Amino acid sequence: MTKSYLVETFGCQMNVHESEKISGSLSNLGYIPVQRREDADIIVFNTCCIRDTAEKKIYGNIGDLKNYKKLKKDLIVAIVGCMSQQAGAIETLKSQFPFIDIILGTTNAHLVGEKVNEIINSRDKRKLKYYENVEPNNDIAENDVTLRTSYPNGWVNIMYGCNNHCTYCIVPYVRGPEKSRAPQLIMDETQNLLKDGYKEITFLGQNVNSYSSEGWNFAKLLDTVAKLPYRFRLRFLTSHPRDLSDEILDVIAKNEKICKSIHLPVQAGSDDVLAKMNRHYTRNYYLSLVEKIREKLPTCVLTTDVMVGFPGETDENFEETINLIQRVKFSNAFTFVYSPRTGTVASRMVQISPQVKKDRITRLISVQNEIVKDISQTSLNKTYEVLVEGVNQKGLLYGRAENGRLITFPGDTNLVGEFIDVKIDKCRVSSLGGHIENRDA
Ligand code: SF4
Repeated sequence: MTKSYLVETFGCQMNVHESEKISGSLSNLGYIPVQRREDADIIVFNTCCIRDTAEKKIYGNIGDLKNYKKLKKDLIVAIVGCMSQQAGAIETLKSQFPFIDIILGTTNAHLVGEKVNEIINSRDKRKLKYYENVEPNNDIAENDVTLRTSYPNGWVNIMYGCNNHCTYCIVPYVRGPEKSRAPQLIMDETQNLLKDGYKEITFLGQNVNSYSSEGWNFAKLLDTVAKLPYRFRLRFLTSHPRDLSDEILDVIAKNEKICKSIHLPVQAGSDDVLAKMNRHYTRNYYLSLVEKIREKLPTCVLTTDVMVGFPGETDENFEETINLIQRVKFSNAFTFVYSPRTGTVASRMVQISPQVKKDRITRLISVQNEIVKDISQTSLNKTYEVLVEGVNQKGLLYGRAENGRLITFPGDTNLVGEFIDVKIDKCRVSSLGGHIENRDA
């Protein structure tokens, strides 16, 4: 009988796309995707260890799988991705959850299908286990089969890993040094997606701005792809402020298809904290960069990541962060409380108290929410072109404007994948509501 599988994703957008590759490796071998754990013969968790909260949530979810394993004795459980890539993680997972059958890291996650096959075809399914976490290296697996789940959005990895070594971040340890894919492979993948009717392409990488391969830099890659003769939008994630060059901004400015929307993590507004974080820029540098972006790209929307409670962050340092947030007025900010990651430099610094962190995150969120509310108000009665992505639980269509704002509105489901003009009539903190305008005009 054909076996079924479920891949659950924890963490960032990069992981969502990596899960599409893991699903592809399983579907390619004849396994059938399902939506619920109780229906699955194979459960794969694609994990993330960037934050302590994410990791705790994953451990809780792995614990829950014990009951499924009791009910279905041949259930195969696989844990893959960056959590299992950490030093000592395999030993911890094996001892706490002996029912796990497969553990793979980020570099070899694409082998899930093959390992599942070996277990299913083995004589003694219950004894065969794979615990293989390979050191991140410069190899890029290019033979992945991807089962895309996000039409009309196509995610394309352009690079992997990071060389920056921000002192709080575990990414360089678990995903290894930067490695860029060959431009022709990126062009081919993008062109195939566009031929298949995908309408929005997002280039993914930990630090896309430092893309470099065969003499191509990120500006050249963007410029070349934006000229492909299809109706589509082009986005990218994530940028490092130090590497967002004038050349990249000029390419964004002159190409209509490149969205005027940049996610530019600031992390902190104080020079002391930025230096301790090893971010390689100052508060003034960041503010001048914002000014330059707004000059070259007047309609560009900026979003960011901000962290509070970094070791040694004083009240004054925190106020500088609040002040920067108020000055820039980001359209959205992902706000985090610093949590130490084992093996990183910052985890060995003197930590500040949980209560102080809690007070600071509460204040930061409230300041940012006020900013978003004010920005949202300016959208009322305006019309945006929305790429329709799907239907939400309330039966409303949802999609994004070029500036990245989520917009919901009533409409026919056959509009999924279309560009539609929507006039805004409701403002909420996380999304806008509207109605279709002038379809026949
Ligand atoms: S730039 Fe810094 S925060 Fe981003 S992935 Fe690299 S080390 Fe981590």
